[in-house]
Order: sequence, then structure tokens, then C-alpha cells
Amino acid sequence: MKTLCVLGSTGSIGVSTLDVIARHPQDYRVVALTANKNVDDLYQQCLQHRPEYAVMVDADAATDLQSRILASSADQVKVLSGTEALAEVASLPQVNTVMAAIVGAAGLLPTLAAANAGHTVLLANKEALVMSGTLLMQAVADNNAVLLPIDSEHNAIFQSMPAGYKIGQQAHGVRKILLTASGGPFRILPIEQLSSVTPEQAVAHPNWDMGRKISVDSATMMNKGLELIEASLLFSMPAKAIQIVIHPQSVIHSMVDYDDGSVLAQLGNPDMRTPIAHSLAWPDRIESGVEPLDIFKVKTLDFEPPDEARFPCLRLAFDVAEQGGTRPTVLNASNEIAVEAFLESRIRFTEIPKVIEQCLADVAQATPDSLDSILNADAKARQAANEFIKHLTH
Ligand code: NDP
Repeated sequence: MKTLCVLGSTGSIGVSTLDVIARHPQDYRVVALTANKNVDDLYQQCLQHRPEYAVMVDADAATDLQSRILASSADQVKVLSGTEALAEVASLPQVNTVMAAIVGAAGLLPTLAAANAGHTVLLANKEALVMSGTLLMQAVADNNAVLLPIDSEHNAIFQSMPAGYKIGQQAHGVRKILLTASGGPFRILPIEQLSSVTPEQAVAHPNWDMGRKISVDSATMMNKGLELIEASLLFSMPAKAIQIVIHPQSVIHSMVDYDDGSVLAQLGNPDMRTPIAHSLAWPDRIESGVEPLDIFKVKTLDFEPPDEARFPCLRLAFDVAEQGGTRPTVLNASNEIAVEAFLESRIRFTEIPKVIEQCLADVAQATPDSLDSILNADAKARQAANEFIKHLTH
């Protein structure tokens, strides 16, 4: 029996995770669910999955959830509140598997707590890995934890690695990784129109149904930039051995190119329940609810190189991946602030990379030696990004 803590259970990945789990009640038990403010959905999830703990980070939302729970038939659920409660439930001894699906840097501490507890960590929250550099990987290694990638591309790469491959190792006989990308909603939009696209246009991804932050990241292709850094850490590969390939159909989820000329790929319909089910059951396989791939319907698979003039975030992420230090932390934090400002219509779509570039130039780039130095760089970058955004006038 796998016992689960789902961090970010009300989000897109969280909901897909609970959908897969509900198909296999004999194999999975939900111990803890967490959300930020979404009381309605967390309450419904408590009624359906009957966890021991439910965490609402927001205090008012926690009070609301507590009174609904007490008046319901699920009154054995303990409601906790605050950020520390996330780390608490992620490291419970009765949990053996943690789905890390909080969006953004807020997921770092609970994900680290899960690794420090020696749990199996199913990592969707790429920002936690990107900002922490080798710290999270080290915590996994030091505590005999297991890390399995949920991002569809990294899950595909993992599936295409040699038999017995373990995350964090350098794979034998691998020449390069081909990291596929759909190109997002603005792949072919005339470039001069990019400065006037709206948040609603940016979150309307052609192939994937995801949360708002990652959808904007896909539109700027910063998502692929974060994934490049993520792949470099997970698979111990230098950034220059990771090639980004635009593949608009999102049927191939990434490929591994071997020294002998073989290229292995993983294919499937674009539905996150496939990598989620793969990681939940690993090394076994379970039914996920995903439609089987009809290769005759797909007909063609197209590939093209990314256009760096259209997607300047890619160049920023590549440089950061090569230079290291606290740059990935600064890149991630300033991107989070810039995306939020764009979603609130305070800056233009094309100003997102400008905010990030400015922060990378302004914030110190020391090599992180501790969690404190990472959190410090994260805070400084957020402050610098907010200052720069204030000066952008329209
Ligand atoms: P969503 O925005 O849909 O969900 C985010 C979840 O995190 C919600 O449960 C939300 O709670 C919670 N949350 C938000 N802010 C905080 C906070 N400050 N503290 C604690 N919890 C918080 O995101 P996604 O599911 O799309 O993405 C989750 C992660 O998975 C991201 O890192 C993303 O990059 C990654 N990922 C997502 C994919 C996808 O298909 N969606 C694909 C690959 C990776 P509430 O509902 O209360 O706001």
C-alpha cells in the first residue's frame, strides 16, 4: 500500500493525481492533502479521500475548512494551517510517497522535508528543484529518498534511459537529451503582436490543460528554460548536451540520443495522468484513464528548432544553466514575480524577459552554500523584480 501526501492537491497536477489514485483504491491511501486558499475544492477532496490531515496555508481558509469538516461526516480529518504545516505533513512517518505539486518557490521547503524524511518524492514542482540547485538532489541522496520526475518531458527521458538508471546518475552511453516543447500558443503569431497579447490568450495552451503560471511559462518558453535546468540536475548532463526541439503535436514527450545512434522516445496523448501513473506505480505500470494513442490519427510528427528572437527566455535560461551559482534561484524568483505582474495586467508579455534579465544583472551571483543563501537570493530577486516593475510605465 502506498501512503500519500499530495502537496497542492487542488491544482491541475493535484487533481490529476487524485483521479489516478481513485482508480486504484486498493493500492493507494491518501494521508494528507494541502492547498493554499481553495476551501471549496479541498473540502470536497476531504469528503472523497478521507485523509488524516488537510492543510490550508491561509489561516482564514483553514478556519472555514475546519468548520465545514466538523459539520460533515469526515470530522476525523485534522485541519492544519500555515507554511510549516506543509513540511510537517510532507515528512509524516505514516507517509511513504509525496506528490510535490505546489506551484513555485513555495514548494521548496515541503519538498525538501519529504526528501529529508527519506520518502519517495514525485516531483512536479520544477521551481523547487531549479531554485535549490544541487541542494534538493543532495537531500535525496543523503536520506536514501527516491526522486521520480512528473514533468512529462523528464518522465519521458527517465523512461528512455538505460535499464536500471537512477535519477541523479550520469547515464552510460548517452550523447544528448532531446527536450521537446510544443512552442505554446504564440509559436506562429507575428512577432510584433507579442507585446499586446492578453493574459487570457497566454494561458490558452494548444495541447495541455494546466495551471495559469505554468501556462504563461509555456507561452514565453521559460517553462522549457526551467526544464532545461531541471533536466541538467536530474540527469547530470551539461546544458549544452540538452537540445530543445519544438514539436507542436506534443505526442513525443522527449528523447534520449545514444552514442550508438539509437534515439529512444516516449510517446502518448498529452495528459499528465500518464507520467503521474508511471511515477505512482514505478517500477510497475497501472491504468491511468488516459485515452490510448491512436497513431493513425496523429499522422505527422513535426520538429523545428526554437526561435530565440521570439523566445528570449530560452537564452536567459541556457546562460543561467551554464553559469550556475544563485542564478537559477534569481531567474526563477524574478520570473514568478514577472508572470504574476503580467497575469494582473501590470506589465506586457514582452516585458517578462526584461524583468528577469535586469534581476540577473542586479542581484549577487554567489555560489549557494546553504538553504539560507538560496532563500536570501530568492528574496533579493523578488524585491529587485518588484522595484523594476514599478518603474515600467505604460
Ligand atoms: P496550479 O496553479 O493548478 O495548482 C497549484 C497548487 O498549489 C494548488 O493546490 C494551490 O492551492 C497550491 N498553492 C499555490 N500557491 C501556494 C502557496 N503559496 N503555498 C502552498 N500551496 C500553494 O498549478 P499546476 O498544478 O499547474 O502546477 C503545479 C506544479 O507542477 C508547478 O510547479 C508546475 O510547473 C508543475 N507542472 C505542472 C504541469 C501541469 O500540467 N499542470 C505539468 C508539469 C509540471 P490553491 O488551489 O488553494 O491556490
